[in-house]
Amino acid sequence: MDDAACAGNWHEFDFFPGKGNLAIDARLLCQRCPVRWRCLEYGMPETHGIWGGATERQRRRLRKLPDWKAVVVRMCVEDARLRKFVEGGAGDWRNWVSA
Ligand code: SF4
Repeated sequence: MDDAACAGNWHEFDFFPGKGNLAIDARLLCQRCPVRWRCLEYGMPETHGIWGGATERQRRRLRKLPDWKAVVVRMCVEDARLRKFVEGGAGDWRNWVSA
């Protein structure tokens, strides 16, 4: 994904941390990634690493939800809608989020 926040600099972050490493830097980067939810959807079956800002343990817990796929897809759709809205000239998103 070319527009990923980690594109071109992924090697600077620890997306496959060892036990006990919370990978804070990588997860913070994911928080502001434009393709976060798509990344999470892709990485849901993965048993290692950080995907969409979620750790292996978080994904395992999410997978226990009977409708986890619907939850993740919904996040993708909402994210795309939000981006379209903002990029469509709605101005600074901070203005309407806090309104
Ligand atoms: S959400 Fe995925 S694509 Fe985006 S920065 Fe994190 S690991 Fe990279």
